[in-house]
Amino acid sequence: MKIESVETAYYRLPLEPMGDAGHGAIDTEELITLTLRAEGLTGNGYTYTIGRGGRAIKTLIDHDLAPLVTGEDADDIEGLWDLMWRRLLYVGRGGLASFAIAAVDVALWDLRGEKEGRPLYALIGAEPREIPAYGSGVDLPKPLDDLLEQVEGFMERGLPGVKVKIGRPDFEEDVQRVAAVRELVGDGVDLMLDANMVWNAEDALEHGRRLETFDPFWYEEPTIPEDVPAHARMVTELTVPIAVGESLHSPYEFQRYADEKAVEVLQIDPITNGGITASLKALRTADEAGLQTSSHYTDELSAHLLCASNSPVYLEKHAFALDPYLQEPQKVENGKVRPTETPGTGLRFDESALEPHRAG
Ligand SMILES: [Mg+2]
Repeated sequence: MKIESVETAYYRLPLEPMGDAGHGAIDTEELITLTLRAEGLTGNGYTYTIGRGGRAIKTLIDHDLAPLVTGEDADDIEGLWDLMWRRLLYVGRGGLASFAIAAVDVALWDLRGEKEGRPLYALIGAEPREIPAYGSGVDLPKPLDDLLEQVEGFMERGLPGVKVKIGRPDFEEDVQRVAAVRELVGDGVDLMLDANMVWNAEDALEHGRRLETFDPFWYEEPTIPEDVPAHARMVTELTVPIAVGESLHSPYEFQRYADEKAVEVLQIDPITNGGITASLKALRTADEAGLQTSSHYTDELSAHLLCASNSPVYLEKHAFALDPYLQEPQKVENGKVRPTETPGTGLRFDESALEPHRAG
């Protein structure tokens, strides 16, 4: 199928003000939708940011990737991923380039689903399965009472796990907040902790030891992703599993973490990782290394992709829900999610809901 056109649109979606230790205050999600046409069929892709970089990503797609893939064979998804990666290599190897490649790659998978009349999980050779979902707050600035109210909301939705942010300027506040959340949820709910890369290696290790007292399910992004040895040391020295993945922007970075035994729960995000093609490689890396897997945001795509993993422990129900802008928001039933059954990704934006947020 010859690719005939690639078009994008840029939106600024307002968020309830939130924040974490690594990325600071967040009040906007940038969404770039992508429409790819080939021989009468349409593939829908998208990419997102947490408020910055989106216009540059749209420009990369419009000026570099769209002309590159137009006229090429849409059926060769892996070949096109490779072409996009190599042609952006000089300015890429991750970063914005991965976010741009992801938008095209998601559209190509969606197009394949349209063509074959099969949902994404079937395209990737997986059986549909139910995956437990956890409630995830971007809640570092919240006063303790508001934090506990949010966690209660997750429990009322029947979610078997909750995640809170850590990394307050005074670490003793983190300890108090985590203690209060553990007391609220009891022992029967899994509690994940996410530092968003804020600490140096020594502090991350020391804080991890303190926080282990509260029996966390995992300890996420305790320090910068570039410091793979520090993560490997934490895997060895801490009992709490180390989780990373949202800040890894290529299959090569996942492979390095696995090779250096620097991760225990590998988290995919098919946008930040560089596309569905890239996240599938990351999941294979996890299987080969015997690692557990989870997801970051991308609730709808990840419900399909995690079906292809040997040990998917959780899907993240993220604070940035796209629900208000989707034709069919993802359902959570008995604390679990399932992939959609419609052809392709199943992710369809409601254009009329997006339109007021269209920006230049
Ligand atoms: Mg995180």
